[in-house]
Amino acid sequence: MLLDLNNEKMQEQTNHIIEIKHVSKYFGDKVALDDINLYIKKGEFVTILGPSGCGKTTLLRLLAGFQTASEGVIYIDGKEITQTPPHKRPVNTVFQKYALFPHLNVYDNIAFGLKLKQTPKDVITRKVKQALRMVSMSDYEYRDVNSLSGGQQQRVAIARAIVNEPAVLLLDEPLAALDLKMRKDMQMELKEMHRTLGITFVYVTHDQEEALTLSDTIVVMSEGKIQQIGTPTAIYNEPVNSFVADFIGESNILNGTMVCDHRVKFANVEVECVDEGFGENAPVDVVLRPEDLYIFPLSDSAQFAGKVTSCIFKGVHYEMLVESDGYEFLVQNYHHFEVGSDVGLLIKPDDIHIMKKERICNTFEGKIVDENHVEFLGCGIECLPEQTQGMEPGTEVEVNVPFGSVILYDDEEDGALTGSVRFILYKGNHYHLTVASDWDEDVYVDTDDIWDKSDHVGIGFPPDSIRISRKKMN
Ligand code: ATP
Repeated sequence: MLLDLNNEKMQEQTNHIIEIKHVSKYFGDKVALDDINLYIKKGEFVTILGPSGCGKTTLLRLLAGFQTASEGVIYIDGKEITQTPPHKRPVNTVFQKYALFPHLNVYDNIAFGLKLKQTPKDVITRKVKQALRMVSMSDYEYRDVNSLSGGQQQRVAIARAIVNEPAVLLLDEPLAALDLKMRKDMQMELKEMHRTLGITFVYVTHDQEEALTLSDTIVVMSEGKIQQIGTPTAIYNEPVNSFVADFIGESNILNGTMVCDHRVKFANVEVECVDEGFGENAPVDVVLRPEDLYIFPLSDSAQFAGKVTSCIFKGVHYEMLVESDGYEFLVQNYHHFEVGSDVGLLIKPDDIHIMKKERICNTFEGKIVDENHVEFLGCGIECLPEQTQGMEPGTEVEVNVPFGSVILYDDEEDGALTGSVRFILYKGNHYHLTVASDWDEDVYVDTDDIWDKSDHVGIGFPPDSIRISRKKMN
């Protein structure tokens, strides 16, 4: 098991082979890793999972020694190795591209590291044969590596890494270049290899299914930060926020209101749940897994009455979209319901996952410019004079703008400032977007319009949506 910083004290007392403490990595202004704390136990299979650009490869490269941390310290096997060069660390790395020496045969590729260390010849032979057996390539010793398939080359790359008997094997998307069938086979082999070798595996992938299949522990990352650490079941069943819920498997994520303990309202219906302690009428995010929604011909027992708008066969189950009172639900079931049929939906209280909303509107620090303007996100923006009443120019203020009031423009020049769409969450009846503004602060937007990730947009704030209050002094 691997724990997060909240349990730092407890973690330090246990048997960790890797300790990453307050590690950050900057590339110029770009924060690739932001205060990472991670403790990995000996023999664990840990997967670092996240979308492209979240910093997972950078984290692995810091462990391998190909890059050094800008801040923080890393210990491997009890030794501080933050500045130690790669070849002096007790780790080996397997890359996505096999990186084999094309002029050497299979045996010599695997033996290369041992020869460098001037290991006796008979020991090399024994170890290479053993490594080849581990990756089921015993008959390929003298083959030219160029004549091997992608899967076979990756097996040789793994053999070359494990032959050195590292304490930790680092794997950077090692199966990404293989076709689906080969990838599934190799996943099983890797899991078996991990069990037999008993060494610690740190595995990087953006493929959530691969992470769920392989790992003892998954570390979900986004934007250089760890979002959640847990077992595959904990991550799947109890995501800590809407990013994790959306990233791990398919989900329905809806805005809701916790009416009181054990009662939540979403999609215009109030239902029973098991959660408590949110207070009365607290805004929440509600996560429903598509396989947890029961679907049946419409009857009185339905919590949600709806109509099927799409039905696709997915090999084992059907995936259906059901429209209910303006909200769309994704439902998976072994039975299929015709498009257009009236259906009922039902969800058990303990299958409703409720998460506290991280924010309920945009909040920016600002400064009064004059009666009709307030400066925030680096721009002077028009506001209504009643909002600035009694405030001198220069007064420091807090500016609030509801998500639904922010306007996005196709033409960047139409906005007060510009940004790019970083994250899109479908909330059943609208999209919730995270837009990275060029001022380097995120703006959150609720919209019915369809945008794509990485779209460059103009961002506008209608004057009547801007609420201004004096900045609270701490
Ligand atoms: P991918 O799956 O696409 O490889 P990743 O999650 O592994 O993504 P990283 O490669 O760790 O992400 O990159 C994290 C961030 O740091 C990205 O925004 C990337 O552009 C940036 N970055 C990484 N290496 C460098 C570098 N050498 N110079 C500048 N920026 C970098």
